[in-house]
Amino acid sequence: MATTNVAGVAVDTRHWIGGSRLASPTTFADTSPIDGTKLGEIARGGKAEVEAAVAAARGAFAPWAALSPHERGVIIHRIADLVEANIEQLAQVETADNGSLLRSHRRGVMPRVVHNLRFFADWAINELHHPNFITRDHTNVVSWDPSGVAALITPWNAPLMLATWKIAPALAAGDTVILKPAEWTPLTASLFADLTAQAGLPAGVFNVVQGLGEEAGAALVAHPGISRISFTGSVPTAKLVARAAADNLTPCSFELGGKSPTIVLDDADLDLAATLAVEQYDNAGQVCLAGTRLLVQARVAEKFAKKFAERAALIKQGDPRDEETQIGPNIHAAHVDRIDGFVQRARTDGATIAFGGERNTELGGLYYRPTLVTNAKAGTEILTAEVFGPVLTMQTFDTDEEGLALANGTEFGLAAVVVTGNRERAEAFTKFLVAGTIWVNCFFVRDLQAPFGGSRKSGVGREGGTWSFDFYADVKNTVYAPTGWK
Ligand code: NAD
Repeated sequence: MATTNVAGVAVDTRHWIGGSRLASPTTFADTSPIDGTKLGEIARGGKAEVEAAVAAARGAFAPWAALSPHERGVIIHRIADLVEANIEQLAQVETADNGSLLRSHRRGVMPRVVHNLRFFADWAINELHHPNFITRDHTNVVSWDPSGVAALITPWNAPLMLATWKIAPALAAGDTVILKPAEWTPLTASLFADLTAQAGLPAGVFNVVQGLGEEAGAALVAHPGISRISFTGSVPTAKLVARAAADNLTPCSFELGGKSPTIVLDDADLDLAATLAVEQYDNAGQVCLAGTRLLVQARVAEKFAKKFAERAALIKQGDPRDEETQIGPNIHAAHVDRIDGFVQRARTDGATIAFGGERNTELGGLYYRPTLVTNAKAGTEILTAEVFGPVLTMQTFDTDEEGLALANGTEFGLAAVVVTGNRERAEAFTKFLVAGTIWVNCFFVRDLQAPFGGSRKSGVGREGGTWSFDFYADVKNTVYAPTGWK
């Protein structure tokens, strides 16, 4: 079957290569984390499909790169218009596929997809000024040239949002694109491909190869015809990608995992702190940026813990299509086993499970209860490894210096949340925190013009605003002599 019906929407289950649909000899099953229903059999791409996609993307490159940012922007805006007109369908399909909240897909995530497209189209037009500067009377002119074919590899926790955060700047920069979505969430990429065709994007400029990471993904990142690899996913996979890319010296951008702290200082508004802490369970904890380590100054720890537990107890877990639900399921059974494994090993290591610590069996196998782990011993796995589920830990500290040392005490450096009533203390913390993004008395405020990425093992490079174009484009400097003109 070339299409499957998901939430009343027909989704093509084949690849999208060179402006046509292409099947593969084999398929893989895509199931919904909401209730385990099978959503479709998806084309299982490998070397041959990657070869075809690279040929199509390379063939489409020269004419696409030759357009001006404005000409490209007109088409990208048209895609954005079509996404906007199809928000309901995209939201329904995304929720069925990855189990995130329907209301947030409708009102937050899909509008953000539209914004991703519009923002980067406009940034290429308006903001990539060519800063001219003079060296001994010679004029330097900086430009951002299209680089070739961008291979984009994305995870399942926010599929279309994270894909378009890469697709939009790559297309706006004049690159052509091959997207390999996560095998757990292949569907909205396929719908998006339809919209690019409707918007008049020339054949081959945008391609989707479906398939498993170790097959389609591995073939794509090893291909010598690729000029850029932008990867969002886990650290172990990033290492495989980096090794494959090394053979061709393909530049990579890595947005990886985290073990970020939420730091509550003793002068914090504890109601705000508890609210922000509860937000770290959003998307059932499947958020790379989540501040999953609650680090609380000892003087206020008891009071904070009480407020936090009260709020956490009110979290409504259930079907992500219900308007009242706050936390849905986790992505698949092996992932829930992995989450539970972390919690059970923490227990064995002597930690206390303050609440949660088990599947919510009333709802079915994939719903894990919001969990808090306390009294974990320093250096144990639960305090150092990314769980990527609704599992937070709490530790206390006495002095600010101790708090800072705890905060920086992992191999990651993606994000941090600091809650304090004192601006100077906030600045002292932010100065020394190792993190790509820090939120003070807030969480998840993200402007697309801001640099985004991780320090240490949380990533390599930054995307966002001009940083995205610095990556997807070949940045060039041309020096004009003051003399020699006729
Ligand atoms: P993953 O690393 O398992 O998979 C990510 C993608 O890589 C998938 O599309 C997968 O098919 C592909 N892949 C797997 N093996 C491959 C290979 N050998 N070669 C090429 N591609 C391959 O990650 P995941 O489980 O899908 O996502 C969760 C992880 O992503 C977490 O660590 C999370 O923190 C991270 N993440 C980071 C950000 C960020 O912006 N920093 C955002 C979201 C998620």
